[in-house]
Amino acid sequence: MKGLDLRLPSPLIEVHDELLSARGVRLYLKRDDLIHPELIGNKWRKLKYNLEEARAESQSTLLTFGGAYSNHIRAVATSGYYFDFDTIGIIRGEEHLPLNEFLASAVNYGMQLVYMDRVTYRRKTNPEVIDSLRSRFGDFYLLPEGGSNALALRGCAELVEEIDIEFDTICCSCGTGGTLAGIASALCEEQRALGFSTLKGGSFLFEEVSNLQKSAYGHSAANWSIELDYHFGGFAKRTRELDEFISSFAARHGVTLDWIYEAKMMFGLLDLIGRGEFERGSTIVAVIAG
Ligand SMILES: *Cc1c(COP(=O)(O)O)cnc(C)c1O
Repeated sequence: MKGLDLRLPSPLIEVHDELLSARGVRLYLKRDDLIHPELIGNKWRKLKYNLEEARAESQSTLLTFGGAYSNHIRAVATSGYYFDFDTIGIIRGEEHLPLNEFLASAVNYGMQLVYMDRVTYRRKTNPEVIDSLRSRFGDFYLLPEGGSNALALRGCAELVEEIDIEFDTICCSCGTGGTLAGIASALCEEQRALGFSTLKGGSFLFEEVSNLQKSAYGHSAANWSIELDYHFGGFAKRTRELDEFISSFAARHGVTLDWIYEAKMMFGLLDLIGRGEFERGSTIVAVIAG
């Protein structure tokens, strides 16, 4: 292996803020963004057991799907480099040059990028589409978009085991919902998980998370929920209000929140806390996945 240096367990850091003390709530950040600069947080957790499985099946190529702003694409490329797999990234839509930093980084780690029109991309889980990819590229280990599958949930569940304080609620942002599904599965009876959708119209996530849990554990749990109203216009969309929030959070707490996911979650979480949605005395852990 090419000397992959992962910071695990990821640090847990308390946030001090007047809003929190006024509401009698404690807030900790689970800094998964510090695990590795490119194998970002939950993407590493989701890939870990999949890489073992790919190895066990003697596969030499990983193939996966993603949009142009996909941390997953980047993480698969990086893992391919470190764990000696060839990697193919099927990218939604057309090529835009120069490549943005996500795709440039993927290419840098040796990933072959293949662009797929949006209509076909929507049918990407369809066996015909997969078969045509196999006839074009040969055999591969298939990772779903965003890396969320049963093995990914197992990796995400380990995040909870690393937390060595007592807490009531754990929050994360949701793209595919895999992280939320995995985290929720590892909680004790009194604890609950709260996801924040970064997608507009994210109500499909309820079914998605439930299905992922069923595929991994045979049943789904009722200890989680998802906030749908903090998407700021949709996936990879930003507004001035969000940008101002990122700056002020960085100035107050020294953490620059990722604008695609974590800033939206943190804005939503602080908004809910400010509105008294959390009981006094409660402790919240917010997962900063990247
Ligand atoms: C992928 C990603 C998420 C969303 O994870 P899902 O399991 O797809 O819901 C959240 N935050 C960051 C930084 C990510 O890269």
